[in-house]
Amino acid sequence: METNLLGELTSPEAEERLRRTGLAILPVGSLEQHGPHLPLDTDSWDAYHLSQEAVRLVKGEKPLILPPIPYGVSYHHMGFAGTISISPPTLYNLICEIGESLRAQGIKKLLVVNGHGGNEPALRAAAQSLKQKVGLVLFIESGGLVAPLREKLITTRNDVHAGEYETSTTLANREEMVRREKIPQPEVKYPSPYLEFSSPQRVSWGFDVGELSPQGVLGDPTKASKEKGEELWLSMIKALADLIEQLSSIEV
Ligand SMILES: [Zn+2]
Repeated sequence: METNLLGELTSPEAEERLRRTGLAILPVGSLEQHGPHLPLDTDSWDAYHLSQEAVRLVKGEKPLILPPIPYGVSYHHMGFAGTISISPPTLYNLICEIGESLRAQGIKKLLVVNGHGGNEPALRAAAQSLKQKVGLVLFIESGGLVAPLREKLITTRNDVHAGEYETSTTLANREEMVRREKIPQPEVKYPSPYLEFSSPQRVSWGFDVGELSPQGVLGDPTKASKEKGEELWLSMIKALADLIEQLSSIEV
């Protein structure tokens, strides 16, 4: 049986595969509100889907994909029902301990495919610790691979959550999950231009989504389309496969 999912292997099969590859992949998502029109599991589903499709395209030795982490740091969405958040230290510890388990089995490189921006600070801290403590190099893909095409296709400013981008990408993969009749008109207010996500002089801050948008939507989902989503996915999957091939051959 040919599978790239660690969870589907037996222990002897895992031993053999782990010996052949120096890289593992860990999808990380969230369970959080995505407006009145997208499902709570959007970030987790997307990260897992992206990981599997990219590994399918990889030429040569395919890395193993670990079971996805379905929870993330979502404090800023807690004002909306259905959101389940873990704390930054919990995510940090989880990533460090998964990395240490892999390192003990010879794996020196771990690529996190991250579907949720709120996870980034904890993931970056884990990357610093894992390198220093056990010599495992953590790579974090948080959407940077698709950034140039996203810039071109997505016309909405500050389109960071359940807006034009995420509604398009969900339409492309799980059209039946999008409650089209519930797609809201954008209604967002920022307290200062420096605090806007698209600002070239952006300042990071501890925000609460509910205080910026009553619908929990940052961006404009009315501009979404399935076609844009399909184009974005193609680009993401191809770029991630390319990244995986390059990381596989890097010596650390
Ligand atoms: Zn999301």
